[in-house]
Amino acid sequence: MLSPATSLTKVTGIGPRLADKFGLLGISTVAELLYYLPRAWEDLSQITEIADLTPDGEKHTIRARLTEMKSFRSPHKRMHITQATFADDSGKIRAVWFNQPYLASSLSVDNEYFFTGKVEQSSGGLSFGNPTYEPVDHTPIHSGRIIAVYPETLGIGTKVVRRIMLQLREVIHEMPDSLPESLRTQYNLIGLAQALETIHFPKSLEELQTAKDRLGFDELLTTQLAVSQMKRYLKTKIANPIPLDVELIKTVLGKLPFQLTASQKRALWEILQDLALPTPTNRLLEGDVGSGKTIVAAIAMIEAAKYEFAACLMAPTEVLALQHYRKLLPLFESVGVSARLRTRTYSEGPDDALISIGTHALLQSGINFDHLNLVIVDEQHRFGVKQREALKQRGRSPHFISLTATPIPRSLALTIFGDLDLSILSAKPLGRLAISTQIVTTANRAKIYALIKSEITHGRQAYVVAPVISATNKLSLKSAEEIFEHIKETFPNTKVGLLHGRLSAAEKTRVLTAFANNEISILVATTVIEVGIDVPNATIMLIEQAERFGLAQLHQLRGRVGRGSDKSYCFVSPETADPDVLTRLDLFCKTLDGFKLAELDLELRGPGSLFGAMQSGFLNYRLANWTDAQAIKRSMEASGLLLDESPDLAKFPSLAASVAQINLVRHSE
Ligand code: ADP
Ligand code: MG
Repeated sequence: MLSPATSLTKVTGIGPRLADKFGLLGISTVAELLYYLPRAWEDLSQITEIADLTPDGEKHTIRARLTEMKSFRSPHKRMHITQATFADDSGKIRAVWFNQPYLASSLSVDNEYFFTGKVEQSSGGLSFGNPTYEPVDHTPIHSGRIIAVYPETLGIGTKVVRRIMLQLREVIHEMPDSLPESLRTQYNLIGLAQALETIHFPKSLEELQTAKDRLGFDELLTTQLAVSQMKRYLKTKIANPIPLDVELIKTVLGKLPFQLTASQKRALWEILQDLALPTPTNRLLEGDVGSGKTIVAAIAMIEAAKYEFAACLMAPTEVLALQHYRKLLPLFESVGVSARLRTRTYSEGPDDALISIGTHALLQSGINFDHLNLVIVDEQHRFGVKQREALKQRGRSPHFISLTATPIPRSLALTIFGDLDLSILSAKPLGRLAISTQIVTTANRAKIYALIKSEITHGRQAYVVAPVISATNKLSLKSAEEIFEHIKETFPNTKVGLLHGRLSAAEKTRVLTAFANNEISILVATTVIEVGIDVPNATIMLIEQAERFGLAQLHQLRGRVGRGSDKSYCFVSPETADPDVLTRLDLFCKTLDGFKLAELDLELRGPGSLFGAMQSGFLNYRLANWTDAQAIKRSMEASGLLLDESPDLAKFPSLAASVAQINLVRHSE
């Protein structure tokens, strides 16, 4: 007898090899296999009469008798060919299979089958190419209904899975429902058993939707429970409040060479208010590239330091840490606050400085965690969740702010970073001109080179971006090194620099400092420049093989220009004529709003395009819809209700188990 807990090795039809494959996917029991969800569904429920078949490129299913069948070898290509004829009341049609010699023993003339396949026009009339078949006297599983199509991971065939699911069908009703009845009623959701039954064996497309709604709800709810639990937990922690000192802030603002934008002011205000509370701040400051997040962070650090608290700013790269330090030091000094830089390579400023700027290395050494009361992480998505957690756990609970230029749509941000409050810098500083963005073609490349030349002659600088560092023989990717040579030839008497991730920290700094001082006019670089580099005199960027980058990433790259008051340009050069690529790049040219691009990217390429591998396990929704703000809101609300009733989820053990799995993913990142 099968039960949800039965090991897969005990299921008929699952041999040791298949069981091993499922094992690699983390599936070892019947219950786990029931969550091996289809990647798509095909509606083969319509039976077409033979007389109505058309070669329209769609799959059709007929119910017909096999009237003739013969197999032979084609003399030329030595292929095995099976030819057959099917008949129903409306007519006859021929079928051909290639290289399936076992057909002769599995099909019998005069028996009735469902046949599914595409119809082709051939010399002798219409024919079916490689149709799938199933005897009509069995419960049809591969045709004659809406069929589930499973991911062919590790070469596990979809038909094999379908047959196994048919066997498991009898235990589905034993699957315990994790959602309390009341919640199901409130949100109009079907029961778990019914949802699983339907997801594998839908009777109609409407019914399939109800199953997707239910299982998608579970996915969102689990995430929400994990993040809300974290949020509630943080609320129980005690932090040292940093007083909100309006006079001090006014003084600092008076030292700036510019006025804060309205959204910078709002974000600063939100942050300062948070810091003044005796619970740890946990806020995400989100703003498009160039929106001026750093200065907001710097002001918060000054306030902390003025009240004798230690504060640190962690950047994802040494180069960026150095840049922050160099840019902010004069401001810190002007208000009488000391600061220091600590990375693996650099050590500047006094040990007892209250403000520390550095990289991850700050975590290992150099921070006195006892006095640390404000932690700011720049480009937060570059940090693993684990590092964030590690920070929170040391010493007292410091206030935590992360800065990110990944313009995550608000609804999504709440899902992923639901444990964070959110401030958004929606506008860029005034006086910035739109960055003119265009696709490079063979026809206009010379013109673009001429423009680069003219910008340089006028004292401006340019970036040329390459997808990879060195040439590999496998892929025909243009490498930074090749482009570097090419640019040097094309622009003689021009200082050209090369920057990539394999340079030593000292070399990187040397190149970047030279570029920042305008001793280098053209910087050829890989995506190491993507994060945060701020050289306002650079006005032009050429991105080679732009198809290699997602929209959000292209936008990050483009954000390196247009940082001053001069007109800036970004050129994207595709190495393919693929219409999809061109459409995508065209969208990029037309859209300057990072939030819109992020949403487009999310739709086109999924969340991985925004967050890379870091969050992928955590974001691994199979049915929930990323962009469905409504559904996300419902799951947040439901999660609140459940946690009110049982803060540790003890009353809902199976939900607690799913949440524990999410935490596993989060902590093991
Ligand atoms: P990001 O949000 O991408 O980290 P930065 O903080 O590096 O952006 O700011 C980009 C540039 O804009 C910096 O040179 C910074 O000094 C400048 N800046 C920031 N705020 C303002 C403002 N309100 N007005 C003018 N320039 C500003
Ligand atoms: Mg930045």
